[in-house]
Amino acid sequence: MWRPGPSLTYEMVPEPPPPGRDQAIVEVAFCGICGTDVSEYTHGPVMIRPGPHPLTGARPPMILGHEFSGRVVATGPGAERLRAGQRVVTDPCWRCGQCYWCRRGDYQICKVGGSVGLASDGALARYVTVPTEGLVPLPDSVDDQTAALTEPLAVALHAVGRGEVGAGSRVLIQGFGPVGAAVLLAARARGAEDVFVSEPSAGRRQLAGSMGASAAYDPAACSVRTEVYRETGKVGPDVIFECTGIPGLLEESVSSVRKGGKVVMVGIGHGNAQLSGWQIVPYEREIIGSLGYRNDLPRVVELLASGQIDPRPLITSVVSLRSAISGAFDVLAGGGGREMKILIDVQAS
Ligand SMILES: [Zn+2]
Ligand SMILES: [Zn+2]
Repeated sequence: MWRPGPSLTYEMVPEPPPPGRDQAIVEVAFCGICGTDVSEYTHGPVMIRPGPHPLTGARPPMILGHEFSGRVVATGPGAERLRAGQRVVTDPCWRCGQCYWCRRGDYQICKVGGSVGLASDGALARYVTVPTEGLVPLPDSVDDQTAALTEPLAVALHAVGRGEVGAGSRVLIQGFGPVGAAVLLAARARGAEDVFVSEPSAGRRQLAGSMGASAAYDPAACSVRTEVYRETGKVGPDVIFECTGIPGLLEESVSSVRKGGKVVMVGIGHGNAQLSGWQIVPYEREIIGSLGYRNDLPRVVELLASGQIDPRPLITSVVSLRSAISGAFDVLAGGGGREMKILIDVQAS
C-alpha cells in the first residue's frame, strides 16, 4: 500500500495517453506552487486520496501542479472547439456533471470532484491532461507567467464573491501570502473602498502597501482589531478574509468583524478553532467557507487583459522543473522567507 509522507521525486514518466472525451492535453509553460502542493509534501496526503480517485481512477503517486498556463497540443472527442496551439489557462476541476451540486452549477463542491494535480496527474510535467470544459483561451496581451496566476486569482475572486464584497466594502485580510495578496487584488477589482491587511512579515506588509492596501498592520506590534475598528469609524470591517489557516485566528476574526459582517475562510488549518455562539448569534455574524471557484476564470483573464489587476509583483522566483524540489518545495516548506509565488518554468532545462 502507498504510504503517506513527505516524498517527492523528479523522474521521467511516460507521455499521457491520447485524450479521452472532453479532455485535452496541454503543453505546460509555467506552473505555480500552491500552499496545497506544499501541504501535500509536508503533511500529505491531504487532498490526494490514498486509493483510486472515484471520478478519475487516478491513484498516488501523483504529479502535482494545478496553477498553470500552456498551449493545447491534442484534443479528444467533444473538444473540437479547441485548436492545437491555442494558448490557454484551465479551471483544473474534474466534476461529475450529474450530482446535486453539479446540477446547481456548484461543480467546485461536486460530490466526487477533484482537481488536476490532486485527483489526476498535474502540470509539474511537460504535458498534462485536463477537462476541456475548464479551458479558457488566452489573449496575446496576457503572457504565460502572468497567466499561471489566473488560478489563484480565480480562487480569490470566488472568495470575495462569497463575502459579497462590492463598491464601498471595507475589508480586512488576515495573512498576506499569495492567497491574501490575490484577495487584495480581487477585492479592489470588485470595488472595495478600504482593504486592511494584518501580516507579521515587514517585507510582505510593504508589498501589501505597494499593491494597494489601505494599511498593513503588524499583529505582533499592535491590536489590529482596535486599529481597524478605529479606521472604520468604530464599526469594524464588513468582511474578514482568513488566509492564514492558523486555527486560533478564526476566533479573532469572528470577534473583529462588524455586526452583520462575514468571515470568509480561504485557508484551512490543521487544528481546531474554538468559538462560542455568543460571538456569532447576538451579532448576526456569518462564517463562510470558500473552496476553489466556479466559472471565475474567464473574468480573471478579462481583468488581466484589461490591466485592471496586475499580479506580477507576486512572482518572486522562477525555477526549472529539475530544480523544483530544492528551489521551490523545500523553500516554501521551510517558511518561504521572502518568497511569495514561485513559478516552475516547465520547459527550461
Ligand atoms: Zn492552488
Ligand atoms: Zn458532481
